[in-house]
Amino acid sequence: MGKLLEVKHLKKYFPTKSGMLHAVDDVSFSIDEGKTLGVVGESGCGKSTLGRVILHLLPLTEGTILYKGRDISNPSRTELHELRRNMQMVFQDPYSSINPRQSVAEIIGEPLKVYHLCKTRQEYGQRVRELMDIVGLPERYEHSYPHELDGGRRQRIGIGRALALNPGFIVCDEPVSALDVSIQAQILNLMMDLQEERKLTYIFVTHDLSVVKHISDDIMVMYLGVVAEKSGAKALFEKQLHPYTKALLSAIPRAKLGGERNRILLKGELTSPIEPPKACRFAVRCPYATDQCRREEPALEEVLPEHFVACHRVREINQL
Ligand code: SF4
Repeated sequence: MGKLLEVKHLKKYFPTKSGMLHAVDDVSFSIDEGKTLGVVGESGCGKSTLGRVILHLLPLTEGTILYKGRDISNPSRTELHELRRNMQMVFQDPYSSINPRQSVAEIIGEPLKVYHLCKTRQEYGQRVRELMDIVGLPERYEHSYPHELDGGRRQRIGIGRALALNPGFIVCDEPVSALDVSIQAQILNLMMDLQEERKLTYIFVTHDLSVVKHISDDIMVMYLGVVAEKSGAKALFEKQLHPYTKALLSAIPRAKLGGERNRILLKGELTSPIEPPKACRFAVRCPYATDQCRREEPALEEVLPEHFVACHRVREINQL
């Protein structure tokens, strides 16, 4: 399958009183059609901003976004309207994107109305019931309101709404973070089934590496707006090369991933994302930091086949 999305040197800066906040700073990657890229990092690393910029919910500062080879970096209003049919988002908290005074059927069916996709009321009603069925919401909830449902069912509403326009690409922003573990598994399974049936391509944004282990083909670890490590999911779980990824993985309880790990506790304050210095952004918390790390920003390099890492000392630390 070919590349569905290509992102090149994407930057998103926000002006603040103290200078520019570098939320996303020169990020490049691509995703093949039907695949999932897991984007992982702590809160404030730029992962959610990245998803919003790709979907044009926020304007980009610099860089290029190609969708099926077409440059969509700065779309016109008409192009954006058309793009929204193909590119959708599932939010952590469906409440942030829906009108709580609408019923389940109204929320899921709204995109069908906006895009005039149904000719009759019957066709509209049938399509909404189909979408509810696809995401596992029984018909009896058609006239319920989101506050009457539990978190898992509310997330099914968010997924149903995202699917209404039959998109090819969905950014899933922490879609299971607010859910109990057992419900998380149900929603993840639903998303994987939908991907297989509909050849969907996902960006799956999360702070929790264990959540993306099974759903991702590739994983990109972000730290303060930059990519720290990027590789196939299997390779990353077998061997993490960047000190930050090692620490992230060590924090996952053993019961969730299996295997022995000693927890690596990160010390030191986060570097400010406002006008960050030309240095490794992880240097103040990294146990391996040297003077070079504090004065030169490491480039993202292919250290092993298809395994990219931004760290001056990666070979030494991992004895490669
Ligand atoms: Fe640590 Fe230096 Fe590598 Fe940054 S470049 S992760 S500070 S060793």
